[in-house]
Amino acid sequence: MYSTKNKGPVTAYIGLGSNLDNPVQHVQTALDELRQLPDSRLISCSSLYRSPPMGPADQPDYINAAAALETSLNPHRLLTELQSIEQQHGRKRERRWGARTLDLDLLVYGESQLSDEELTVPHPGLAERAFVLYPLQEIANTLMIPGLGAIQSLVAECPLNGLEKL
Ligand code: ATP
Ligand code: MG
Ligand code: MG
Repeated sequence: MYSTKNKGPVTAYIGLGSNLDNPVQHVQTALDELRQLPDSRLISCSSLYRSPPMGPADQPDYINAAAALETSLNPHRLLTELQSIEQQHGRKRERRWGARTLDLDLLVYGESQLSDEELTVPHPGLAERAFVLYPLQEIANTLMIPGLGAIQSLVAECPLNGLEKL
């Protein structure tokens, strides 16, 4: 499936998460690195939040945030840039939803809906995840998420599940 209605730069939203080796610092440094991305401009970032781990419970709490980026990178190129920032933070993939120094997920890319082996946008977990929806709403209160509807409705349906603003 591929549909793109975007012309020129688009607004993309990134979800950040970390729960290892000083997570606040990983998230803050990652926001600075997002500022340096080519053909892109960081428009806004949310507060930092703390959330209990999703999946395996024997790992530290997460620090989460969301950021808005105006970008001319296509979605796959943007994903590659996000993965390279994860690598700079020593990200290792062990078990699914296991502890990590940095996770950068592409939540929304303009009005695009697409899905292939590398990339699904909007991010598939978005609608059920308080640690994604609440930070996202903080920076994009009137956002309409392609295929899912208004961020406000998604937040209204999603309990906090232990999420706290720092
Ligand atoms: P989840 O995606 O459920 O939050 P995760 O972030 O821990 O889990 P990762 O190990 O970071 O998962 O990524 C696994 C794969 O997901 C990546 O190799 C990437 O190709 C793919 N992927 C698909 N859609 C996206 C997206 N929207 N943003 C980031 N990665 C994505
Ligand atoms: Mg993730
Ligand atoms: Mg990820």
